[in-house]
Parts: sequence; structure tokens; C-alpha cells
Amino acid sequence: MKKSLLVVANWKLHPQTLKEAQTLLSSYELPRGMSVAVCPPALFLQPLRKAHKGRIVFGGQNVFFEKEGPYTGELSAGMLKDAGASYVLVGHAERRALGEGDDVIARKVGAAARAGLTAILCVGERERDEHGFYLNHLKGQLEKGLAEITPLLLKNIVIAYEPIWAIGAPSAVAITPRDLQETTLYLRKILHSMYKDKGLLVPVLYGGSVTSENASSFVGTGEVNGLLVGRESLKGKSFNALLDILTHA
Ligand code: PEP
Repeated sequence: MKKSLLVVANWKLHPQTLKEAQTLLSSYELPRGMSVAVCPPALFLQPLRKAHKGRIVFGGQNVFFEKEGPYTGELSAGMLKDAGASYVLVGHAERRALGEGDDVIARKVGAAARAGLTAILCVGERERDEHGFYLNHLKGQLEKGLAEITPLLLKNIVIAYEPIWAIGAPSAVAITPRDLQETTLYLRKILHSMYKDKGLLVPVLYGGSVTSENASSFVGTGEVNGLLVGRESLKGKSFNALLDILTHA
């Protein structure tokens, strides 16, 4: 493995019971030098964290921007941290589809980073157009999503580029490594224009139909610092194969 990689497993609304979550987690085998963050349903965070004796770290799938108060159903960054989270996904396409906008996302990213969590800000276009308008869309999502992030807080930020058209799609639909390389370069250019050289230290991940077949081309030719994996992280065998392949990437 040439560089240190971060692989984030987004379990979404799976599995259905804590017992199943424990079984899935214990099926993971981490190769040396690989960082893996598992984002289970929030209810399972604390028990999984307590029972886990290995190197896996944990993350939330969502966070609220206030610390406390009359906000029924919400979880604060402090609560996630207390439950054992080090990371939190913010602005995932599936949450944006439920109505979460850039302003709310910016507040969530800010609250998470200030609380000492690493916020994984997810950005991605719905579709690509030949004129490159989707690049403006990505620029907007990045600039708005990081509105509360000062240079000092930047160490608590990871960007996950997840084109919506590639999430949950057949693996043949995933982005080509060349297109990913171009987009990664573009995102780093925006980060540089916002934070100068510090912006280039922000890890950029790719997510969207990642499998053990395409994973190494994304971190190789695609030049990302890691991957955000949905479906393939719900099958221990497939996920282990993916991690194993990355050690040779
Ligand atoms: C995701 O939802 O973050 C994701 C990348 O899903 P999948 O790997 O299933 O496309």
C-alpha cells in the first residue's frame, strides 16, 4: 500500500438488530496500515464501540447543529462523541434528498468540527453535462458546506465525492478512474483557493458503487485518499476482499 488510506463503511439503515451488527463487525478483517471507520445506525454506536477491541473507529451518519435544547429526535455532536464516534457523515445525498440544504449542512459540519469530530462532507452532482455545469454545482456545495470551517478547523474535515448517479448503482455505472482523477483535481483546486496550501491536506474520498473490482483503480488512477463504501460494507467477505485489494494498490 503506497499511501495511508481511509475506508468509511456507511451501513445506512442496516442491519436490523444489534446482534446482526455485532456479527457483521466481527467479520471484518483489517489489513495493517488501513484505517477503517464504520458508520452504523446511531443506536448501535456505543455497544459496538465498547465491544470492539481492534483498530476500527466509528462514525455517525448524521448530526444536529445545536448542542442541546428542545430538538426532538436529534443527536448532538457531543452525544455522538460520547457514544464513541470519531467521524460523522454530513450532507450525504440520501439526507439531501430528504430536504437537507447547504445552510443546514454548513451548520452541521461546523458543529461537528468544533466538537472535535471529523466531519465527512459529502458532495456530488445528480448528473454530468457536457458543458461542465456540474463542476459549478460541486464548487457551490463545497464552499457552502465549509462556510463555518476556519483554517484551524480544517484538520477535522474530510471530503467525500459521491456522484448521486453512482450511489447504489450497478458497479458498471461507477465513475471511470480518469473522470475521478479530473474531479478530484478540481475539488483540490477549490480547496486550495479557499485555504491555500492547507486545503491540499484535506483528504478526498470517493463513494458510489465501490467494489473489490474497481477499488484499486480509484485510489490509484483516481488519486483519492480513500473510499466511502455502502452496500459492499454490509457483506463481511466482500468488504474484506476490497480492503485486501487496497493493500496492493
Ligand atoms: C453511499 O451511499 O455512500 C454509497 C457509496 O453507497 P454504495 O456503495 O452502495 O453505492
